[in-house]
Amino acid sequence: MYGQMMQQPLLISSLIVHAERHHGEREVVSRRVEGDIHRTTYGQIAQRARQVAQALGALGVRDGERVATLAWNGYRHMELYFGISGSGAVMHTVNPRLHPDQIVYIADHAEDQVMFFDMTFWPLIQAVAGRTKTVKHWVAMCGREHLPADAAKVPGLLCYEELVAAQDGRYAWPSFDENTASSLCYTSGTTGNPKGVLYSHRSTLLHTFAAALPDCLDVGAADCVLPVVPMFHVNSWGIVYLAPMTGAKLVLPGAGLDGKSLYELFESEGVTVSAGVPTVWQGLLAYVDANKLKFSTMRRSAIGGSACPPAMISKFLDDYGVRVIHAWGMTEMSPIGTAAAFKAQHVDQSPERRLAVMSTQGRAVYGVDMKIVGEDGRELPWDGQASGDLLVRGPWVISRYFRDEGGDPLQDGWFPTGDVAKISPEGYMIITDRSKDVIKSGGEWIGSIDLENIAMAHPAVAMAACIAAHHPKWDERPLLVVMKKPGAEVTKEELLAFFDGKIAKWWTPDDVVFVDAIPLGATGKMQKNRLRDQFRGYKLPTA
Ligand code: AMP
Repeated sequence: MYGQMMQQPLLISSLIVHAERHHGEREVVSRRVEGDIHRTTYGQIAQRARQVAQALGALGVRDGERVATLAWNGYRHMELYFGISGSGAVMHTVNPRLHPDQIVYIADHAEDQVMFFDMTFWPLIQAVAGRTKTVKHWVAMCGREHLPADAAKVPGLLCYEELVAAQDGRYAWPSFDENTASSLCYTSGTTGNPKGVLYSHRSTLLHTFAAALPDCLDVGAADCVLPVVPMFHVNSWGIVYLAPMTGAKLVLPGAGLDGKSLYELFESEGVTVSAGVPTVWQGLLAYVDANKLKFSTMRRSAIGGSACPPAMISKFLDDYGVRVIHAWGMTEMSPIGTAAAFKAQHVDQSPERRLAVMSTQGRAVYGVDMKIVGEDGRELPWDGQASGDLLVRGPWVISRYFRDEGGDPLQDGWFPTGDVAKISPEGYMIITDRSKDVIKSGGEWIGSIDLENIAMAHPAVAMAACIAAHHPKWDERPLLVVMKKPGAEVTKEELLAFFDGKIAKWWTPDDVVFVDAIPLGATGKMQKNRLRDQFRGYKLPTA
């Protein structure tokens, strides 16, 4: 027997329709590439998203075709998010920090028909425009007055504001199957060429409901959210959808991701919740510290994308009263899988115990199931000790990569994340490594993240990466690569002594090298593969 409730497909357009009707005056504030602060509302964004949908029709874009963006977090990008997916085309967000060759590869692989771009990326567009195979239209996301003097270098360049102005917005969002593809995001986290993850309207809406939950990003209508995490990286962790769903005010920081620019926006717009990777928060905290500032409205900050050092969690809480929500996920998971919110039994526990809970990657958000398995594929216990490959499943977890790249990625219906983890009896998951970053010393795994977290708690350390160096006896031993804070001093011996008592003695790195910079990838993560290349053949003193 079927239930007797209405059949309404879960479509992305319904988010902006809801926001227009119920939160139409709520503001969306953007720091623009043009240099100013721009203010609009959900009502106006809904109107312009309809104009975008009409404009795509006028350009000949058909259902299911891919339309790409190379853009910062801003209101025009948001109009495209809803205009493209809402019309039935597929929104393809391209990461502008990738190498031009990779961008060409991705655009060709996705068969992008149109590419919208912020003017910051004009040099990049010139480098790729003549090389892509399918892009028919290049659209500069600005008014005519901001088009570059050398616009003729890209034949047929179009102007976003003119495209939008040519339409009247009298457009009814089409209805279609909720399993229709909505958006495409390529991940470089896997081996080989970047692979495409193709989200559906249904997976996106279900993920948005979950992301807004109190034990996840915890966002409501009274909040003001600033996603530092880019809209070109897994849909800014769903924030660009959950803000219109909840009616929260949205603040989009554009290209201004330095500590000063972010802090100014936090304060001037009354931001209560933010989200980003640890490296961004380092810049912000350094600025706030150096200038003896406080956050007057910020209450929560979601941190994920790579492990958040416990030292950062306690600094946010103790010095600034900001609760860190440590979250874990990946492009293949839309991205959220776990978040470190307390259970009832933690509420009255000691600050140390609470910090330990907050420092885990968290427990599964409803909708995501997880398990850890050993090398023989058998499930391992949740005892906080056993660590193994982490597998997940759920309605917003990938089932295949776009165009079946890499074949069937699933193992018995579960997606192998490539992370190595343990899970506590209370269900809190702790990532100990990426499987390819694991250091295996004498057959035993050493958790590089633990070592990095300890090193980063040292006051002189700005960033630390721990990689495997070859050892004739133990096969691999940990080598700690450290970038010091400006003006700070610490010796190798002092740093190694800092590990005493914090870990098993045999986990202590065999050596420390100081570097001027640690390479960061397109999504702000430390590129340990580049460090491994750089230190290949490194001779450990104990070897
Ligand atoms: P991406 O698809 O670029 O978002 O990368 C996903 C990968 O980032 C995961 O598989 C993890 O290896 C890593 N990651 C994400 N969040 C965390 C976290 N909170 N702690 C440790 N690693 C993380």
